[in-house]
Amino acid sequence: MSTDTAKIMDGKAIALKIQTELADETSRFIQKTGVTPCLAAVLVGVDAASEVYVRNKQRACKRVGLSSQLHKLSADASQQSLLDLITELNNDSQVHGILVQLPLPAGLDSTQILDSINPQKDVDAFHPENVGLISQGRPRFLPCTPHGVQQILDRCGIELSGKHVVIVGRSEIVGKPMAMLLINRDSTRGPQAANATVTICHSRTTNLAAITRTADVLIAAIGKANFITADMVQPGAVVVDVGINRTAEGLVGDVNFDDVSTVAQHITPVPGGVGPLTVTMLMHNTLTAARIQTSNAAVE
Ligand code: NAP
Repeated sequence: MSTDTAKIMDGKAIALKIQTELADETSRFIQKTGVTPCLAAVLVGVDAASEVYVRNKQRACKRVGLSSQLHKLSADASQQSLLDLITELNNDSQVHGILVQLPLPAGLDSTQILDSINPQKDVDAFHPENVGLISQGRPRFLPCTPHGVQQILDRCGIELSGKHVVIVGRSEIVGKPMAMLLINRDSTRGPQAANATVTICHSRTTNLAAITRTADVLIAAIGKANFITADMVQPGAVVVDVGINRTAEGLVGDVNFDDVSTVAQHITPVPGGVGPLTVTMLMHNTLTAARIQTSNAAVE
């Protein structure tokens, strides 16, 4: 089926709805346990985009009823000082989730830093233990951006079970974990939001457009402005744009929105698409982290 103008999947509105649901859950959790879930954000150096992301995360914490901390280190902070801060946060029972805002300044080993986070506080789900649990289909935390994409699709009534999903991008943060969530047998939204047949493409993929044109659902996580054009999209497909690219015209996605809107059935905008969901799913994970740590404390 082709359409003249795609239906917009409003990530901002969906994110606010989920935040209202999370606020209810958080308030019930606090009433029951007396514990306020807390997210500690670590920001190293001065990067305008990172400052905005961290501020958005802190504002979302406030809306949901979570507490938050911000730990700022200067750009010349040493690897050891960052590791010491993580150890301090790992040992602080008032802190349930730890988030290190990426990218870190050049010279810092982000893999070592991320691996040093207590897996039970790893609300970004980057720690190898959490990635392993996700790949085995028994996640502790769900990766924020992929989980957000799954939420948008399901809440817009897009069934994924049995569908061909093509993901362009194989990063550890988006493409790869996205595929893992969608091939699982079940999801937080039920089996209809999983059980997809997934193809992952990357920069070495040959004949990319021929593959993307076979997608019922196309997910772009490339990092190249306006890369996906209408000729790469099957008429009637659902298109999710994860990309965030800063250009002279402002923020744009990886999908040429105006062009692809003429063939797609559903599409996410940038901004106002996946971005607000990523922040929201971080709130979801912080509440999950507090639940895990509180029930552990009750057992000890
Ligand atoms: P990344 O680590 O740079 O990965 C980009 C992926 O795109 C790589 O796998 C790369 O292939 C692939 N790629 C690059 N050029 C390609 C081409 N010409 N054809 C096919 N594949 C190509 O980026 P990322 O962290 O996944 O982020 C992707 C985008 O999403 C960025 O714009 C980022 O800002 C955005 N993002 C948004 C959110 C959100 O909340 N909305 C969250 C995270 C990221 P190779 O592996 O072969 O190099």
